[in-house]
Amino acid sequence: MPASEAEGAQPSPSSPLIGVLALQGGFQAHERVLARLGARVREVRVAEDLADVHGLVIPGGESTTMMLGVQRERLSEPLRGLAQAGLPVLGSCAGLIMLDRDHLGLMDMRASRNAFGRQVRSFEADLHVAGLGDAPLRGIFIRAPWIAEHGPEVEILATIEGHAVAARQGQLLAVAFHTELGEDDRVHREFLEWARSFASGAGGRRSLSAGARSRRAPVTAPKAP
Ligand code: GLN
Repeated sequence: MPASEAEGAQPSPSSPLIGVLALQGGFQAHERVLARLGARVREVRVAEDLADVHGLVIPGGESTTMMLGVQRERLSEPLRGLAQAGLPVLGSCAGLIMLDRDHLGLMDMRASRNAFGRQVRSFEADLHVAGLGDAPLRGIFIRAPWIAEHGPEVEILATIEGHAVAARQGQLLAVAFHTELGEDDRVHREFLEWARSFASGAGGRRSLSAGARSRRAPVTAPKAP
């Protein structure tokens, strides 16, 4: 890993506590970025691990296997409850698939798996992600999905060749690419802002996109411990 790993901000007791679903897939890469940005990180394998987290990351990997793990550990219901209570959730690649209607059902969208083709269609592309500034974000796509269909509460934040590859629904954020593998950590930084806001009890609306329209009723987030 780059030297920057060693330069990470020291987490303090007031740093947001981010759970990273660690049943399968590339959870460690997310942990490194989060730790470098000063978050406290906890691997989530069973429901008890979700206690008091201020945000949850669902990593890339293999969504079928990950979903089997979620079912085995009976994590679906606790995850739904926390999402409804306003917990920020970031899903990347397989994590985006996990958020869709056919999996955890947290976001009103349907992901198309391996949509760019299988292995051969692993590629990098510069994306404009709404709300993350003008500079393009380098997206790393590995057997990536795209969002084939979505309801009105889902706001598309980035497209590639007309296909939706980043979206939010309230405090739920889904990206089809591996933001944890590149140098550009703007997605994680923004997510940590949401987690901080959740931790401080602000809850409700967050500002990733200037044009974001959340149709959800504001939620009152629980106070940080
Ligand atoms: N193709 C995988 C799936 O369908 C996702 C790939 C990834 O997370 N890099 O679950």
